[in-house]
Amino acid sequence: MKYIVATSIIVLGLVYLFFWMISFFRRIFVRFKKKDEPASLAGAVITDSAQNASTDAIWAIRDSISRLEEAKNKVVALFGSEFPSVDAKEAYFGTVTAWELLEAASGERKGNTENSRRARWALETAKSRALQCASALKGYENLQIELSNAFDACYREISAALDAIAPRQEEKPPNEIIVKKSADEYQLLCSVCGAVSWILKKGKSDDGKDWIQYKGISSGMGLNAEDSPVLFDLLAQGNLADVHRHIYNKYVSSDVMGIDAYCPECKTIYCARHYNVYETYDEGFYDETIGTCPKGHRRKLND
Ligand SMILES: [Zn+2]
Ligand SMILES: [Zn+2]
Repeated sequence: MKYIVATSIIVLGLVYLFFWMISFFRRIFVRFKKKDEPASLAGAVITDSAQNASTDAIWAIRDSISRLEEAKNKVVALFGSEFPSVDAKEAYFGTVTAWELLEAASGERKGNTENSRRARWALETAKSRALQCASALKGYENLQIELSNAFDACYREISAALDAIAPRQEEKPPNEIIVKKSADEYQLLCSVCGAVSWILKKGKSDDGKDWIQYKGISSGMGLNAEDSPVLFDLLAQGNLADVHRHIYNKYVSSDVMGIDAYCPECKTIYCARHYNVYETYDEGFYDETIGTCPKGHRRKLND
């Protein structure tokens, strides 16, 4: 009996070892194949040395992602299922997703920007989670620094690789930053790139009441319908300063800081990217949204 049990254990062990080795060598093979394989074999068009260099650069980012994974594992080991662990995981998996989309984008035809656009979006979401996690690591300074540095490296490298394979389209300032879409809707465009950055629209709330929908670069909300005449008149006059002031004065108690996309010093509109918007967190909880315009004017956009 003892002999049969011992033999079974050894056989099972050998079978396990066999499959483990197959999967191990397959992983290595796939990794090297991906590394060496020019993009043409993966179905792409560009095969020159620049493409190979960018493929190498993309695979090199895995090292930084491994360091982020180590930092994430330390947070999870320390906090278990508590708050910072969730953010650490989201920051890590968001970064992995951004990398996978980057890798997919690198094999695409030029001009196809869907994967790079989604990669940028995943990366920005991961950044917000990494900031949130770092803010919750008060009292664990070394881990806080390790996580921040690891994420910053991933962010820098993935952004640079995305810029290399899918350069951002040339930016063109719009002719007019105030666009009247209809009698009930105005849009404000970024003065640098023309992206729609703020929308004010008359409509109905969920419970059927008249209201004005406010959609900005840091938040969206409903304003009272009674503000319609004054706000829409001011917009028709092109008076953004007073639109901003009116909303600020009336709604600052609800944490609305006027037109969030507006820089009062430049007296113009910026999108989230050109206002360099970022969220701050205090011990893991949302604190405020800060914007710094291209001329360096900094203000709180949302509280
Ligand atoms: Zn812009
Ligand atoms: Zn400014």
